Amino acid sequence: MKSIKKLLLLLILFGLIAATVFYFRDTASPLVTLTPGTGTISHKTPLFLELNDQGMGLKQVQVTILQEGNRLLLANQTFPAQTKNARLELNLSSLKLKQGGLQIEIIAGDQAVYHLGKGNLSQQLFPFTYDTRPPIISVLSKAHNLTKGGSGLVTYRLNEDVEKTGVQIGNLFFPGFQQESEIYACLFAYPFDMKDADFVPRVVAHDLAGNERQAGIYYHTNNKKFRQRKINLSNNFLQQKAPEFESLVPEAGEPLEIFLYVNGEMRRQNRAKMVELAKQTTSTPLWQGSFTRLPRSSELGLFADYRSYYYEGKKIDESVHFGFDLASVAQAEIPAGNDGEVLWADYLGIYGLCIVIDHGLGLQTLYAHMSQFDVQVGDMVVRGQTLGRTGATGLAGGDHLHFGVFVSGVAVQPLEWWDKSWLKNNIDSKLTVNH
Ligand SMILES: [Zn+2]
Repeated sequence: MKSIKKLLLLLILFGLIAATVFYFRDTASPLVTLTPGTGTISHKTPLFLELNDQGMGLKQVQVTILQEGNRLLLANQTFPAQTKNARLELNLSSLKLKQGGLQIEIIAGDQAVYHLGKGNLSQQLFPFTYDTRPPIISVLSKAHNLTKGGSGLVTYRLNEDVEKTGVQIGNLFFPGFQQESEIYACLFAYPFDMKDADFVPRVVAHDLAGNERQAGIYYHTNNKKFRQRKINLSNNFLQQKAPEFESLVPEAGEPLEIFLYVNGEMRRQNRAKMVELAKQTTSTPLWQGSFTRLPRSSELGLFADYRSYYYEGKKIDESVHFGFDLASVAQAEIPAGNDGEVLWADYLGIYGLCIVIDHGLGLQTLYAHMSQFDVQVGDMVVRGQTLGRTGATGLAGGDHLHFGVFVSGVAVQPLEWWDKSWLKNNIDSKLTVNH
């Protein structure tokens, strides 16, 4: 009997030791993560606090804002037992805070018995700049005359650093770029297919804390009518083009089906590529003076021609022509429209072998249906430099150059950029004015 009692006592002792070890084993304080953890914030910036305690679990958290010696309690929360993780959204809008520096202090405790039962404490300070004032936009350029399908430039000053700025027109955004003079320059377009009433350009600026301001600009618009063209698709043309595209069409069928895929889906993909390339622009203007065009050439197609395609007397498709078709002799040398950097020199769907040159501020030129390249991606070219030769690759019926001008991915009227006085009055003079 004695030995059984001994065994029982031993068991109780073991139990007590085990309980003590269990109770005191958690010596790690909770993990605290605040996102963002630093930077410029406003009363609207969402701040996410994540707490994690894999030991005894979370007990409480206290969030305090420290600013100029003041302590403002933002949150004080206790957690039910066994809470291992917690996620809180902090909102500063309920507090009266001053513009400038502040710190967010976070004290989190767990269920462990240390520190007279307060648990293992984790105390951290996160530094921020508090800014609730939207940027001030001062528009500097005066008259903005835009013709439907054409381009314009606005210059302005901002009083603080920004995350995003440019011209917003409906859903279209044209980025603005800060120049060496600290002035911002933004090229924008009056899209050829936009209704006059919808064309309301606004300069917008979002600062680092997410505060946003818009500013109107003075502008005048001129309407422009574009041509309607009827294009008859011959069997000869369809048969001639089908082999080039066959491997690029998912379900290749008859030559006419291939044409419809290329003229529809592939055209959309190629347009999307131009929007993507627009993002690789340089922040300063690289062009000097007006643009040059293919010499001794005749105009086969104009910008924004509305094309209806007919096959065996029936209308089967339509599209808009985003450039100029210029025909010269076969395999004519193609001059670079202006100074810039070669962004693309490769095959691209309807454009065939083509080159895209970046001229800065979102301005880019496209040279399509080429037969030969004399430059490669990354090359800096000068106005008039030979880029390669014309051809009939891509969706082209014969040897010609398709020349396109884009402003931040939006196709614009090339005529303006070829026109010395238009360029001087509407773009270059605005960039060089001493403000
Ligand atoms: Zn064309």
